Amino acid sequence: MKVYYDGDANLDILKDKKIVILGYGSQGHAHAQNLKESGLNVIVALHEKNEFWHQAEADGLEVMENKEAVRAGDIIMLLVPDTIQPGVYKNDILPNLQKGNILAFAHGFNIHYNQIVPPSTIDVIMIAPKGPGHLVRRQYQQKQGVPSLIAIYQDYSGQAKEFALAYARGIGATRAGVLQTSFKEETETDLFGEQTVLCGGVTELILSGFNTLVEAGYQPEIAYFECLHEMKLIVDLIYENGLSGMYYSVSDTAEYGGLSRGPQIIGEESKKAMKEALKRVQDGSFATEWILENQANGPKFNALRQKLDNEKIEKVGKELRKMMSWINNK
Ligand code: NAD
Ligand code: MG
Repeated sequence: MKVYYDGDANLDILKDKKIVILGYGSQGHAHAQNLKESGLNVIVALHEKNEFWHQAEADGLEVMENKEAVRAGDIIMLLVPDTIQPGVYKNDILPNLQKGNILAFAHGFNIHYNQIVPPSTIDVIMIAPKGPGHLVRRQYQQKQGVPSLIAIYQDYSGQAKEFALAYARGIGATRAGVLQTSFKEETETDLFGEQTVLCGGVTELILSGFNTLVEAGYQPEIAYFECLHEMKLIVDLIYENGLSGMYYSVSDTAEYGGLSRGPQIIGEESKKAMKEALKRVQDGSFATEWILENQANGPKFNALRQKLDNEKIEKVGKELRKMMSWINNK
């Protein structure tokens, strides 16, 4: 797979453009400050004079109300929460968009599932850092970057890829390496990953392990340490050295136990369920469910949140984490 670095990206093609960063949250604050320090023209856009507005000004950035900013801008990067992007696009962006503008995203959901349908006379691109905004900012300040994805959905100018690479360089991403994907691939793999492995899979694995021990009569506090607390240690090892690298660092007993019992816990049945989840991502039925859920103000979503809050592991964890001075207790 081709990896793009600084030498593949020409920052100069953005020098005469005004980049509007809509939203000043996790990604927004990082993109805005990094681009500005890369010598580019940045306007932060917000819908109201909230705490983010004051923060952006305190960080030395020019801040405007959404509509005004879009009128002044050439590149519009949508960094407001995905669920509110379609409304912001319809009310503030579309009426003020000009031929030849560039609409940019850090996640493909709204384009891929047609919640935002852009006119054919603009470029539509994605620059998606594979890390939270605070890491994107910190790495940039340390003269490093966070590996990122770029994608082109619409290439009106014939230069969309150059613009995406230049933007990626502006936030520091090409220092680390940039890979090209499509809106479809980024969106579908992102949803699949968070549903089955990262968020959904990991929480259910922890819950099942914890509840199995507690139901068998073991103390919940001990079960918490075993099934939740130590997860971080293992994940850090996997993150740094891969799966075999993790096994190299644990005891032989843990290695043999894991290698032999793991496939009995997550096996064919889970794979079948994963394929089903993937199908629902690919055929758009998950997206439809999520969009309708939001329109109805999240009845199922709230019930699911409530159910998790009521799990014993959450109550036990809240107390145990007070013993840990090195973490922010929540
Ligand atoms: P966020 O929740 O941190 O964004 C909040 C910001 O949006 C605040 O500044 C808020 O004032 C502003 N906002 C809310 N409504 C607004 C409106 N109507 N007009 C203007 N501003 C408004 O968002 P985020 O987590 O940075 O996500 C932004 C995009 O980046 C999403 O598409 C997300 O999928 C993508 N992304 C996020 C991460 C991450 O680590 N958070 C990583 C990769 C991609
Ligand atoms: Mg993701």
